[in-house]
Amino acid sequence: MSSLQPVRGTHDLFGEDMRRHREVLDIGRAVANRFGYDEIITPIFEKTEVFKRTLGDTSDVVTKEMYTFSTKGGDEITLRPENTAGVARAFMSNGLSQQLPVKFFYGGPMFRHERPQKGRQRQFHQAGVELLGVEKPQGDVEIIALGVHFLKELGVYGDTVLELNTLGDTESRKAYRDALVAYFSKFKDQLSEDSLDRLEKNPLRILDSKNERDRKLVADAPIFSDYLNDFSKDFFAQVKDGLDDLGIAYEINPRLVRGLDYYCHTAFEFTTTALGAQGTVLAGGRYDGLVKMMGGPATPGVGWASGVERLAMLMTREIVIAKPVVIIPMGEAADKRASVLADELRYAGYRTELGYSGNLKKRLIRANKQNACAAIIMGDDELAENSATVRDLVSGDQSVVKLDELVEKLAIYR
Ligand code: ATP
Ligand code: MG
Repeated sequence: MSSLQPVRGTHDLFGEDMRRHREVLDIGRAVANRFGYDEIITPIFEKTEVFKRTLGDTSDVVTKEMYTFSTKGGDEITLRPENTAGVARAFMSNGLSQQLPVKFFYGGPMFRHERPQKGRQRQFHQAGVELLGVEKPQGDVEIIALGVHFLKELGVYGDTVLELNTLGDTESRKAYRDALVAYFSKFKDQLSEDSLDRLEKNPLRILDSKNERDRKLVADAPIFSDYLNDFSKDFFAQVKDGLDDLGIAYEINPRLVRGLDYYCHTAFEFTTTALGAQGTVLAGGRYDGLVKMMGGPATPGVGWASGVERLAMLMTREIVIAKPVVIIPMGEAADKRASVLADELRYAGYRTELGYSGNLKKRLIRANKQNACAAIIMGDDELAENSATVRDLVSGDQSVVKLDELVEKLAIYR
C-alpha cells in the first residue's frame, strides 16, 4: 500500500543514520557553544510574509519550493525553507536588538519542494549559526572559523574547499547589476525564461542559474570585482586577511552568489567533490539588509547553514555507542530479580538490556548481536546465594559475583 511509504522526498531516520545525524547536530551545537553561540529553536512554520519578503520574489525558493498553506483561521503559513528569516523574526519579536551582539546556533528540519535526488530531500535538516550586530569583517571571519572548526571536528574538513566571494555593498551591487543588465540584454533570445524574469527583477540571480544555456552566457559575463567600490574592496581584503591570520585556506570564486536576496559583502561555500552533484555542505554570508527589510532596526548580520544529511554522508568516522550489559535471568524468581537489577544498573549509568526470552544459548547469541560487553546470567541456584554469573562477552571469561558488588565489578566496562 503506497500510503505506507513516507511522502516523496522525506525519510525516516533511525539506527546508524540517526546516530550519524545526531552526531552532526551535537558537534555543531558543541562547537558553536565554544564560540559563545546559544541554541535557538524557532517554529517550523512562519507567516508566509516572513519568507516572501526576505527571500525575494524571484528566488527559486519562493517561486517554486515553498510549502505554503492557509490555516483554518485564514492565515497564510509556510513551512520554513531555511532558518535565517525565522531567527531574524525572532530577534525582532523578542526585542533582542537591545543586547547586541546576538549569537545563535540552530538545528532542525527545513522544507523545500524540489526534485528529490541524492543529497536533496523535501524535508531535510540544517545546522546553522547567525551573528547579529557585528558590522566589522571580524564577524565574517569568526563565522567562517566556526564553520572550519565544525567541519574539522566532523573529520570532513579535508574533503572540502572553501570558496569565497564578495557581493559588495549596495552601491557596488547597483553598479554590477547595471553591468549585468547591459550584458544579458544582448542575449535575451538565448536566456531561459526564468532568467529573463530575473533580468528584470534580480539579474544577479542569473549567475546562480542551473540552466545549460544560461551557464554558457554566464561564463563571459562581467565580473563583480571590477565593480566594487573602495569600501567593499577594503572590507573583502580585511576578511581575507583575517582568514590568512587563522591559516584558513580559500579559493576566490567570482561567480559565487548566494541564492537569496538579502546578502551583501562576504559570500562563501564549503564544497566537496565527494558527494556527486550536490556538493555544497555549508554555505553562508553577510546579510546586513535583512532585519531592516523585515521592518526592524538596521542590524548587520552574518551566518551560515549546513546540510546535516550531506555532512552525515560525508562523515566517515565511526560513531561510538555504549556497549550494553545484558541481564539473562533463567527462571521465574530470576525474572523478577532481573528487572530490579536492570533498574539499579540503569540508575548507575549502564546501558542495560534484558534478555527477554529463549534458552541461554539463544540469549547469548542475541547479546553478542547487540554488541554487549557482558552478560549477567542469573539462575535460581545463584540467586539463592544472592549472586550471579558475569560473563565477559569478548574473552568468554566467567566469574560468580555477589549482586551487591555487581555495579562495582562492572566498572571495567565503563
Ligand atoms: P543548492 O544549490 O544545493 O540547492 P541552496 O543554495 O539552495 O543549495 P542553501 O539555501 O544555501 O542551499 O542551504 C544551505 C545548505 O543546506 C546547502 O548547502 C545544502 O547542504 C543544504 N540543502 C539545501 N537544500 C537541500 C535539500 N533540498 N536537501 C538536502 N540538503 C539541502
Ligand atoms: Mg536550492
